[in-house]
Amino acid sequence: QERTLAIIKPDAVRYLGDVISAVYENGFTIARMRMVQMSQNEVMYFYSEHKDKDFFNRLVEFMTSGPVVAIELVGSDAIAKWRNIIGPTDSQKAKEQSSHSLRARFGTDGTKNALHGSSSSTDASREISFFFDSKYGN
Ligand code: ATP
Repeated sequence: QERTLAIIKPDAVRYLGDVISAVYENGFTIARMRMVQMSQNEVMYFYSEHKDKDFFNRLVEFMTSGPVVAIELVGSDAIAKWRNIIGPTDSQKAKEQSSHSLRARFGTDGTKNALHGSSSSTDASREISFFFDSKYGN
């Protein structure tokens, strides 16, 4: 069993029910889940690996545009499996590739791409503690 962090980004919170259905249809269980409004500083910290990218400001603006839902997923090969279910980063590419991935279904473009999934076990641990250990008044 492996853990990963999924985030339903502000553009896709309205599809919460569909995303939760996909989580269980694909055999994951949910360990913890919370809805939070991230501050600009929190987004900048969470995505600090991208601080020098040209899309960073757009990303911070997008991720603070409304609440997000952070979900700690548990399952076999959860990190790779969840990334496969959400599809390519760019939602338009996701739509070209298959209409079934969550970014194809609920994303709009390269920034507004509906969902996040951790990219490694190191990132998963860091991201799960970010949302669930002593943050947001725990
Ligand atoms: P990873 O790159 O780790 O596989 P990811 O698919 O979430 O994961 P990242 O490259 O980590 O994508 O980028 C983080 C977020 O920044 C993306 O999910 C997207 O919202 C935004 N982003 C990434 N690349 C671009 C881009 N070229 N243009 C606009 N926004 C981008």
